[in-house]
Amino acid sequence: MGTTETIIVGGGQAGLAMSRCLTDRGVEHVILERGRVAERWRTERWDSLRLLTPRWQSRLPGWRYRGPDLDGFMTKAEVVTYLDEYARSFRAPLHTGVAVTRVHGRGDSFEVQTDAGAWASSNVVIATGYCARAAVPAFAAELAGDMDQLVPTQYRNPRQLRAGGVLVAGASATGIQLAAEIARTGREVILAVGNHIRLPRRYRGRDIMRWLDEMGVLRETADQVPDLEASRRQPSLQLIGSEEGGSLDLQVLQDRGVRIVGRMTGVSGHRAYFADDLADSIGHAERKMHGMLHRIDWHLARLRLSCAFPVEPRPRAVAVPVAPRTLNLRDRGVNTVVWATGYRRDYPWLHIPVLDATGEIMHRGGVTPRPGLYVLGLQFMRRRNSAFLDGVGADAADLTEHLIQHRARRLVAAA
Ligand SMILES: Cc1cc2nc3c(=O)[nH]c(=O)nc-3n(C[C@H](O)[C@H](O)[C@H](O)COP(=O)(O)OP(=O)(O)OC[C@H]3O[C@@H](n4cnc5c(N)ncnc54)[C@H](O)[C@@H]3O)c2cc1C
Repeated sequence: MGTTETIIVGGGQAGLAMSRCLTDRGVEHVILERGRVAERWRTERWDSLRLLTPRWQSRLPGWRYRGPDLDGFMTKAEVVTYLDEYARSFRAPLHTGVAVTRVHGRGDSFEVQTDAGAWASSNVVIATGYCARAAVPAFAAELAGDMDQLVPTQYRNPRQLRAGGVLVAGASATGIQLAAEIARTGREVILAVGNHIRLPRRYRGRDIMRWLDEMGVLRETADQVPDLEASRRQPSLQLIGSEEGGSLDLQVLQDRGVRIVGRMTGVSGHRAYFADDLADSIGHAERKMHGMLHRIDWHLARLRLSCAFPVEPRPRAVAVPVAPRTLNLRDRGVNTVVWATGYRRDYPWLHIPVLDATGEIMHRGGVTPRPGLYVLGLQFMRRRNSAFLDGVGADAADLTEHLIQHRARRLVAAA
């Protein structure tokens, strides 16, 4: 059995950031990764995907993007190279191709079983990803058997889809990007829209992410928001990172022929049902967007920079079409449903009672009720950008500090 002080499960950006922080503080550890570094970027993302955050916004502990075109957007292949080079830069103690199959407590330590032998450690950091598995509504099982259905982790490009129309359920970053790509091939695309967050790609002469970064919005901490659980449930931003750098929103999609309908509420055979909530969800997203743009205006006014970044017209309002409550998909020539309805976590190997009734890990800023057990990379774990490439590092540094203090307390108790 291998022994080490800390085991990190997962070799994505979160696992690597944690490893770098532990390395800097001299904490012995290993990373167990079932695939390769950044495996999900290699095998679970669609071909055309680019990050929606600009290249400069990929700062990790001791690492940042140093190539050209800082304001452009990395392709998924670039993300893999970026993280591979990061791992090499500090000789991350990686064990790749090693899947963790069981983690359980042994006294105040842990035993970690893998498909390549067992390990014992004092701490375990779970870094297996916030977007570990696509979430699909239970009613998907009612869809007629002659319809194709797939999730974003299976989608690669429109060529893999049968000829015919496509219903995309979900209009956050993934849903709008896939709807746009599929519509470009001339197919009929229907987009079912629920709660979403609209932002323009650029405002007052700069990329929106530059403003959010400068104003500290993305670094807001868990105690700065009125309802942390609601903030954790927020959908991803309706943004796309493309070479052209333009916005992608429900109006752009409608201009390109995508038909938008309300949130999908059920399905029976070939019949799909939608909520009568399109005007509400669009109205809500517009108000939130104007609130944020107003914040940027105010920020510039306060710094007396309004002249340097002249006022520009706000994005066009999204037209709210008359949307049907139900559609017979077969009659409309639709034979594929893409469920862009979010992601979930799954810890079948975790045999420590830290999961709540919904299967999520209970934690306070990544510290679980079981001393020595940590989780990293979750949505708004400590900060608004906890699950972002650019945000996970600050959380990793905090957890490293906690882990070192936990070690000191344990040593004192044992003395
Ligand atoms: C479509 C999409 C687009 C995104 N775009 C952006 C963006 O533009 N900008 C941004 O900052 N963020 C973006 N994100 C969010 C975030 O950056 C990614 O989800 C990122 O992959 C999270 O990194 P992670 O290390 O937390 O998890 P992951 O990358 O999911 O890594 C977890 C690792 O754990 C491994 N693993 C899982 N189970 C086990 C096990 N039992 N044993 C051993 N290893 C295991 C997996 O193989 C995987 O390599 C995007 C996410 C998605 C899904």
